[in-house]
Amino acid sequence: MKFEELNLDERILRAVEDMGFEEASPIQASAIPVIMDDRDVVGQAQTGTGKTAAYSIPVLEKIDPDLKKLQAVILCPTRELAVQVAEEIRKLAKYMSDIKVLPVYGGQEIVRQIKSLKAGVQILVGTPGRVMDHMRRKTVKFDNVSMVVLDEADEMLDMGFREDMETILTDTPEDRQTIMFSATMPKAIMDIAKNFQKDAEIIKVVRKELTVKNIEQYYYEVRPKNKNELLCRLRDFQLYSVIQKDRLTSLYLSLKAEDILQTEFTEI
Ligand code: AMP
Repeated sequence: MKFEELNLDERILRAVEDMGFEEASPIQASAIPVIMDDRDVVGQAQTGTGKTAAYSIPVLEKIDPDLKKLQAVILCPTRELAVQVAEEIRKLAKYMSDIKVLPVYGGQEIVRQIKSLKAGVQILVGTPGRVMDHMRRKTVKFDNVSMVVLDEADEMLDMGFREDMETILTDTPEDRQTIMFSATMPKAIMDIAKNFQKDAEIIKVVRKELTVKNIEQYYYEVRPKNKNELLCRLRDFQLYSVIQKDRLTSLYLSLKAEDILQTEFTEI
């Protein structure tokens, strides 16, 4: 399905195009219209299916840019996911200059987060523990929250966040819309759906990779200290093996390998 068929804000369509998304993924095609229609959703989808945009696009559609108050809360199990989700929302909101999104997670200086929150954040992406912390300190107010998203809900349960998730859901306005994404559907997930959602629509997608067919993917488990050395060897190896096949492709791959190398250097 084309994004144009989903009745989206023209600024989101432009951003989606810039991000290189050509077609809506199955979870996006199924979930976006239902979420835009104000319905609660339980989405069974793993990472790699495009689930982040499936809920982030409707969140952006529904935010009132003139209201400089918290309107959507997205809970994620880890700091990495919170940062990644906030980043994806920022990209989707590239042409919506009046929308502010902030990731909050444990381990980051709370004073800095409080300062950013005061600037009028409309979308908060955070780990349950840290969101609870802000709630107790009254540095976030839920009065205007109309959407709560639980991303990777099964992971949050496994990490012992059930109570925090339930407290946050209890403290947000009852007429909110609640969206839950989970790779698996254990009983505890269905209990949360029963207790905190209203007549939720269950949307399942069979895992469908977004990766292009002619790209092969590998992963190597390696100790952090050996990461750079492995990358250097891989780069040499890739260049060597590809040069044998096709010179032009080798040029492309060598550039990509440089990119990877750079990213890894900055991450360490
Ligand atoms: P997610 O399942 O949300 O973690 O997304 C996996 C990756 O796919 C992310 O890098 C997204 O930016 C990308 N992505 C999401 N939707 C699409 C789409 N419709 N077409 C191509 N890539 C996408």
